[in-house]
Amino acid sequence: MIPFNKPYLTGKEAHYMYEAVFTGKLSGNGMFTQRCQAYFEKRYGFLKCLLTTSCTDALEMAAILCDVKPGDEVIIPSYTFVSTALAFVRQGATIIFADSQSEHPNIDADKIEALITPRTKVIVPVHYAGMACDMTKIMALADKYNLLVVEDAAQAVDSFYEGDRALGSIGHLAAFSFHETKNIISGEGGMLAINDDRFIHRAEIIWEKGTNRAEFFRGEVNKYGWVDIGSSFLPSEVIAAFLWAQIEHLDEIQNKRKEHWNRYYEALKPLADKGYFKLPQIPAYATNNAHMFYLVCPSLEGRTKLITTLKQNDILAVFHYLSLHSSPYYTEKHDGRVLANCDRFADCLVRLPLFYELSLEDQNKIIATIKSVYNDK
Ligand SMILES: *Cc1c(COP(=O)(O)O)cnc(C)c1O
Repeated sequence: MIPFNKPYLTGKEAHYMYEAVFTGKLSGNGMFTQRCQAYFEKRYGFLKCLLTTSCTDALEMAAILCDVKPGDEVIIPSYTFVSTALAFVRQGATIIFADSQSEHPNIDADKIEALITPRTKVIVPVHYAGMACDMTKIMALADKYNLLVVEDAAQAVDSFYEGDRALGSIGHLAAFSFHETKNIISGEGGMLAINDDRFIHRAEIIWEKGTNRAEFFRGEVNKYGWVDIGSSFLPSEVIAAFLWAQIEHLDEIQNKRKEHWNRYYEALKPLADKGYFKLPQIPAYATNNAHMFYLVCPSLEGRTKLITTLKQNDILAVFHYLSLHSSPYYTEKHDGRVLANCDRFADCLVRLPLFYELSLEDQNKIIATIKSVYNDK
């Protein structure tokens, strides 16, 4: 079976974890955590980074930092993972689900303004497949209506907007994931990026169980105690050590994934030109970090046939995101608007295997199998 994903180990993970274990600093915010955070801050221009135990946790921190309260409205695309909405729902927010663009799963920035009310507090663009949303339009709306922007950059490590602006550096806050299905990984893991200095002080407190422990360890206060709400959002040093081994190979990982991505694109373009399916579109303002390779079939039946044929040939392709606005948890709470583009991606999008160690032979087999579905040589 060609798997859908296979976590890639760079080789030094266990070595650094061993180092963390034997230096005796096992809890969070130690040397490896600080090394990872400093790396991301410097390389991508984030004002401040805090590692978290997941992207879900980073989003929860963001929801707390935005001071989201019951009755507040948060605008989120419906075509996304549960966590994007869940973090704000836990603060009591009403989620106003937005539709995707017709040719891209990302939120349609032109349709956001109509959803803004006096209760709107936050917009949460999700950079689907690591490709940027239209951040100029979204930040202009935030400015005009005095809203906060939290980028769900779970899939968007090492991807950029308009050339050199790293995704995750544009909104007030951003959340990244290092889950084993993402480009660089730590099993479970994530990071909050903070780009507005108003949030830094409180973020450190929320991160460490509502205490001012970080200040204490910098010698800024002589006692630490309970000063705010919070949780245990920080990962152990063992996890940060694993992540450091991945970071050291980030460029190599990205280059390999882009090679695979481009090979799929070139090989499948003739079929897309014949109208069998659509290929990913990269907006002019976005870069591609090769997080994901997907096809959009013309119908649910077409997608089912493609996935089934691949499976019969021992290839695991998957679909994802059941529209959140019509999920069992939210459908009663949704305001009833039809989100047609989102529903179409939910029915028609399929993801192909894409991981560092995907061999040329296996990729050729996947491509040949797809061609066979359309009787195309
Ligand atoms: C993976 C993912 C998440 C959740 O990340 P975790 O680290 O598993 O919590 C959230 N949003 C999006 C868009 C994702 O792809």
